[in-house]
Amino acid sequence: MLDTSSLKTALDYYVDNEYANRLPDGMKIFEQPLIGFAAAEDPIFKEFKKEEVIGSLYVLPEEWLPEAKTVISYFLPFSENIRSSNYGGPPTSVKWLHARFIGEEFNKSIRKFLLGELEKMGGKAVAPALHENYFADYDNFSSNWSERHVAYAAGLGSFGLNRGLITEKGLAGRFGSLITTLYFPATIRSGGGVFENCPYFTDESCSACVKRCPSGAIKKEGKDKAVCNNYTRVEDHLQELRLQFGYDHSVCGKCQINVPCENTIPGR
Ligand code: SF4
Ligand code: SF4
Repeated sequence: MLDTSSLKTALDYYVDNEYANRLPDGMKIFEQPLIGFAAAEDPIFKEFKKEEVIGSLYVLPEEWLPEAKTVISYFLPFSENIRSSNYGGPPTSVKWLHARFIGEEFNKSIRKFLLGELEKMGGKAVAPALHENYFADYDNFSSNWSERHVAYAAGLGSFGLNRGLITEKGLAGRFGSLITTLYFPATIRSGGGVFENCPYFTDESCSACVKRCPSGAIKKEGKDKAVCNNYTRVEDHLQELRLQFGYDHSVCGKCQINVPCENTIPGR
């Protein structure tokens, strides 16, 4: 079994030092990441195939990579400057918009970097989000791999009312994952359940994301993805912003910032 610390050190260094982790004005996009590990044979991955979780189109680790031993997940928290830029009401801040798209390009390069590191360590590896068989249908809210669910499996956090994954560094950020034939020890999940870190589900003491949402997409039953999607794709001010900078779609993110789970687990 391999030690996880060398991979974490390599990831930390990459995120800290790559200029691609910056907006054109030099502002840092992501702070130090979190990393977690799950056994590829963990039964939780089969749970994800249930229709009430992700569904039958979900592809298991060993289907992406025969002989898979470990699934690696990481969380990239947005920097304070990126988060605070979007604290107000609509519209979405320009920095948040750029951070979503430029940040995800950097996230792709992180996946490639970690693929190289795992190969240097003697393993094979796949990053499902970069794989030719990866499938994400944003109109029907379906995909054959879910970074947030993998992060839950790898012990990085639990889900919130807004359906983000609340980690010890909050939920405002991006996730990524890889599958490898190398054998790393699994991170122990806390055992408190899928909504453990969200106080709405423990004592109803928080519903801040409901108030922050400009579209009414977040209700006590959770997030209505269709309402959220419709808001970000048709709302005039968001379309103007998207067209101004030439992105495929716009983003909002108000439910992820200026809320108690923005950059920490509420109450800790
Ligand atoms: S804002 Fe509050 S209720 Fe909403 S996900 Fe975060 S902790 Fe849960
Ligand atoms: S991204 Fe915006 S519209 Fe969608 S749920 Fe969050 S706050 Fe609401």
